[in-house]
Amino acid sequence: MLTRRGQTVEVTDRPYNNLLRRLNASDYALVAPYLSDGDGRANDLLYSPGDDVDLVHFPCGPSLASYLVPNEDGRDVETILVGREGAVGGIVSQGYLPAYTRIIVKFGGPFVRLPISKLDAAKGQSKTLRNVFARYADCMLAQIFQSTACNAIHSIEQRTAKWIVSAMERTDGDSSVPLTHEQLATLLGVGRSYASRVIQSFKAEGILDTRRGAILVRNPQALQMRACLCNEAVKNHFEEVLRGVYPTEEPEGA
Ligand SMILES: [Zn+2]
Repeated sequence: MLTRRGQTVEVTDRPYNNLLRRLNASDYALVAPYLSDGDGRANDLLYSPGDDVDLVHFPCGPSLASYLVPNEDGRDVETILVGREGAVGGIVSQGYLPAYTRIIVKFGGPFVRLPISKLDAAKGQSKTLRNVFARYADCMLAQIFQSTACNAIHSIEQRTAKWIVSAMERTDGDSSVPLTHEQLATLLGVGRSYASRVIQSFKAEGILDTRRGAILVRNPQALQMRACLCNEAVKNHFEEVLRGVYPTEEPEGA
């Protein structure tokens, strides 16, 4: 709980982003005046390689962002998804540095933005705030390491199940995941027909269904069984390093 301008602000009155909610009251007060609300629509471009990174974007609620690495043959490969457990833009670096990847809005919804200069100033004022962001950067690196290993050794089927589970977890366990076959193919770095084949076999087993532009998960336990353990490994690291930030709590309002 924090008191600002004589008002009591509960943690749940903050934007629905676990990193912002993890900050202690005085650390949150350092950044709160500079946060601005906005909405992101699916496929909105947040950064292109080489852009000056001047804003940190915090996905809130059902929103998801993703890091894409463009390749010389024109194909983009998605590396990691970031939901309300984190933030994108200038997380590892400090100050204005060019973006390395493309960062897009994957699932539309509310985002909160904070100028990097204000975040850097707050880090300079508070060791505990600096510590939360350093720990988040460590978790994000773990996610990237795991993603590299996953792409190298796990099957398309395991990775498909993992992506759907991880998108569900980061969006309140909603059984409708707004992913098309095309988007799934990009996540997996495979052709659309491969992605469709895996979806068809999961459909045949009653694990999921497809709707226009979305995947409907019928049997989350079965899907989890088919996934590799990469997402679990990342989740465990979050629990060690930043307990409570990876979404495991009941959805808001439940
Ligand atoms: Zn994996």
